Amino acid sequence: MGAEPQISLPAVKRPKGRYSLSDFIIHRTLGTGSFGRVHLVRSKHNLRFYAIKVLSKEKVVKTKQVQHTNNEREMLEAVQHPFIVNLWGTFQDTQNLYMVMDFVAGGELFTLLRRSTRFPDPVAKFYAAEVALALNHLHSLNIIYRDLKPENVLLGQDGHIKIADFGFAKLCPNTTWTLCGTPDYLAPEIVSQSRYNKSVDWYALGVLIFEMLYGLPPYHQPEPNPFLLYERITRGTAFIRWPPFHTNAKDLILKLMESDPSKRYGNLKHGAGDVFAHPWFREVDWEKLLRREITAPYMPKIDGDGDASAFERYPEGDVVKSYGAQGEDQWGQCFPDFEYTSG
Ligand code: AMP
Repeated sequence: MGAEPQISLPAVKRPKGRYSLSDFIIHRTLGTGSFGRVHLVRSKHNLRFYAIKVLSKEKVVKTKQVQHTNNEREMLEAVQHPFIVNLWGTFQDTQNLYMVMDFVAGGELFTLLRRSTRFPDPVAKFYAAEVALALNHLHSLNIIYRDLKPENVLLGQDGHIKIADFGFAKLCPNTTWTLCGTPDYLAPEIVSQSRYNKSVDWYALGVLIFEMLYGLPPYHQPEPNPFLLYERITRGTAFIRWPPFHTNAKDLILKLMESDPSKRYGNLKHGAGDVFAHPWFREVDWEKLLRREITAPYMPKIDGDGDASAFERYPEGDVVKSYGAQGEDQWGQCFPDFEYTSG
């Protein structure tokens, strides 16, 4: 296999803050991932709230996620978009990596969806349209996102979306082949370990629309069984039992979940234009949507800055004690773009 061509993102012209742990007071946990957790924090300087994602360097290295983590930092730094979470800066100490982001207060779309069971057609359409704009922006920078799912779509205080978790995002103008993502949302070409391109994100948008309208993804089984799931994904949409969706919604889902990437919407001659022009989105004013001038269907109930009640509670333990610890630093050289800022 030949080496991937060396390409880079356009230089970002926004000042990056220089932060360290001592700039923040750490509050509760907002979410957890395989390598660490995300905390609500408050700046001691401007008293604003932020979210800090903390990743254990040891866990990242041992699970071979070094490249993905460096990609995450690089991609998030390069991206500025109304529907994508903003990264303010990153740093590291001997044990951990830290990513300072906006605190997105409305919680996960996942939580709202599970509480509502399913969304009415116009509600699903609103979120899908904002996601489509965010994907289009990422793809215009040659970034594949690779982890679209309701857990990674957060809601701002104003009810508009912010996509978070760039742990699998990658700069990729052509094709790639790494098996990553979340099982229910994997396109068939990822499952079959073929090379794939950014059209896997459009496939995942099809799955997301289905899940928003029905409450569960199309190939869901009550007992998780990856083997069976991958078989269903490979067999394709002909075997889906369709709930009574609006005809246009079903048509768009089918066009996005098309098994053959060369026929998939979003990946044809007009790119995202085909998705935007699809009849299901007929009434969407894309310009207004991008300017966040369309009122969101659901307003998170936020009781002042720093209210994290939209997030589930996690056992806090004493993990915070390890933050900022001194000692041997075995892995620092793996993450050259995370600065050492303390001490
Ligand atoms: P991640 O590992 O990036 O997927 O983050 C895990 C969870 O932390 C997410 O699913 C969210 O619930 C929460 N989270 C991540 N980033 C933020 C943020 N910027 N604001 C609020 N919550 C966040």
